[in-house]
Amino acid sequence: SNIFFRPIEKINAVIESYPKGIAGFKRYTEILDTAPDIADRPGASELRKPRGDIRFEDVTFGYENGRNVLENVNLTIGAGETVAFVGPSGAGKTTICSLLPRFYEATGGRITVDGTDIREFTLQSLRRQIGIVQQDVFLFTGTIRENIAYGKLDAPEDEIWEAARRASMADFVRGLPDGMDTVIGERGVKLSGGQKQRLSIARMFLKNPPILILDEATSALDTETEAMIQQALAELAVGRTTLVIAHRLSTIRNADRIVVVSERGITEQGSHEELVAAGGIYSRLHVVQSRAQ
Ligand code: ATP
Repeated sequence: SNIFFRPIEKINAVIESYPKGIAGFKRYTEILDTAPDIADRPGASELRKPRGDIRFEDVTFGYENGRNVLENVNLTIGAGETVAFVGPSGAGKTTICSLLPRFYEATGGRITVDGTDIREFTLQSLRRQIGIVQQDVFLFTGTIRENIAYGKLDAPEDEIWEAARRASMADFVRGLPDGMDTVIGERGVKLSGGQKQRLSIARMFLKNPPILILDEATSALDTETEAMIQQALAELAVGRTTLVIAHRLSTIRNADRIVVVSERGITEQGSHEELVAAGGIYSRLHVVQSRAQ
């Protein structure tokens, strides 16, 4: 699942299901008319530099025409805390995280940042405070510098280099004939999966959002690259409220808290040791994961 591209998938799904004929057209426009409009409320305020306390209060959500994926979810995440979401495939881990930047709107309950309902903020200012790092990195044809500075176009050169260094990609950039001016993308140098991820991490260091969503990679990278990326991500999470859609035991173990998502809600939470000792769903997932690694 992919948190960032899902709204686009949703649009495609609507377009692809566009049935032929007048009756079909009517159905199509009805879908568009009833699609929940995610827009700013009149008088919405700007979210500026939040501490990053997040609360889900009785949050219920279902995709259009589907059953509820989440029912009455309650969760408090303290500023600076790292929470790992684990659970069976399709349980709703990605869905929970996609409600925070309002890719979808909760159908019941509310989500707050620093105590204020996120619907009170302009979408743009809310999303500016949330960084998303995921497997499928969005790159455009342009220089490495432009790609890193994507979230902060006016960034000074030293900040761009500092971000690259913290993302463990400075040596790689220095080794290129054109350095930061190297053109990447379709017509330029092709980056490996690990390099793309480092670039997206550098972007986040530069953007410096107080809230982070990490949609952890499921596909394997080589061990050395993997370790380097994990290290950079751990550094990135320091001082930020971090929600990880977790697939790796190492990330899960290092989280401040593990939240198990299953059966339309949160069924367990605690530290790794607590959850293993409790002998519930997590302890069974944990056994499976240990075997897989
Ligand atoms: P995974 O570990 O496989 O990524 P997950 O725990 O992140 O799973 P979600 O991706 O949040 O689970 O999916 C929760 C449920 O919602 C699933 O039943 C899924 O099929 C459904 N779902 C996800 N995205 C959509 C969508 N855009 N439209 C309709 N249903 C969706």
